[in-house]
Amino acid sequence: MNGNIITINDIKELLEIAPAETLVTSFYLNVDARRISPIKYKAIARNLLRDKQQSLDKEGLPKELLNKVKEDFKRIEDVVANRFELKGRVRGLVVIADAARDFFQVYRVAQPVKSQVAVDPDPYVRPLVAILDEYHRLMLVLLDQREARLLEVYMGEILEHETYHSAGVRGKVKEGGWYGLEERRIERSIENKIIRHYQRVADNVLEHFRRGHFEYLLIGIRAEDCSFFFPVLHSYLQPRVKGRLDLSPKDHIKDIVDAALRAERKIEEEEDGKILEDVVETVNKGGLAIKGIDNVLRAIPFGACQVLVVDDDYSMPGYICKDCAYLSLREGDCSFCGKEALSVEDVVEEAMQEVLLQRGEIKYITTDHPRLGEISHIGTLLRYKI
Ligand SMILES: [Zn+2]
Repeated sequence: MNGNIITINDIKELLEIAPAETLVTSFYLNVDARRISPIKYKAIARNLLRDKQQSLDKEGLPKELLNKVKEDFKRIEDVVANRFELKGRVRGLVVIADAARDFFQVYRVAQPVKSQVAVDPDPYVRPLVAILDEYHRLMLVLLDQREARLLEVYMGEILEHETYHSAGVRGKVKEGGWYGLEERRIERSIENKIIRHYQRVADNVLEHFRRGHFEYLLIGIRAEDCSFFFPVLHSYLQPRVKGRLDLSPKDHIKDIVDAALRAERKIEEEEDGKILEDVVETVNKGGLAIKGIDNVLRAIPFGACQVLVVDDDYSMPGYICKDCAYLSLREGDCSFCGKEALSVEDVVEEAMQEVLLQRGEIKYITTDHPRLGEISHIGTLLRYKI
């Protein structure tokens, strides 16, 4: 894994090359705090694992294999019950585990997931792949005239790659003033050393890029040093720069982490914003998109929702048909099949679960986005006209 944050490819590789006949547990849990309480999701997790355990017990698998699965289940339950921190915008918890191969990976993801557990010779990663696809791998380069630190930022986690001082760079280039000839010569020599230091950093960053370690760059550098660094950055990398952060390598790691995660979130939000705009414009053109909860609920039985965009804070009481699960805002018998409908606390949550089940995507948009009003809090790109 080259000392990088584990990605989906690492998981696939790791589990594909292993020859052992073992069982991999793939566990998905919806922990969306706005829509489901911790008591409830902990209970859901226990039930999922218990039911799975019971069905495995009946399959007559070798005891040794079963014991390893039990170990995984125990550890997953432990993560859900005790050690699972709901920081930031965590809405989904995913664990891929195989005790026989000493593999245990926890993902906290910002998208809701369909709660489920699979136990198979191969990991069930399809929902995870869709989620991880949306995250970008970022490299944060912190530098001043003497030091540099490279950090990888991915899915709300940060990994420090390397940190170095450039030897021989002493003093600081002065801003102006009167210099004697000797001082000017020294100044020039210091300046050359700083430029060499920046070139070394830039080469290193390029090497990471060539190895596929990141898609976008964030540069933490003081404004006054920018004019030295940006010109030495390789032209491949220039368009990858997503922004400059007012940071230095000497800053406290907590401040660095906070700033980096804020920047990561901003990038993801910008991308979600683009999809929202796509929905708004497609609706306005009369293309393959619809807006408003009524229309979305109508599209669901047809499996037509491809990318559902929804206001972070949006919820709505409604009804679900006991028989066909048709969702509606209106009381009374199901307008799809005529059977009895039951009331549900939040029809938006039910709709999202259904879209996930139909292999659609969900994009949350922060509630203060100015264009959310144009789709009445919810809308979707359609797979086909309904
Ligand atoms: Zn019905």
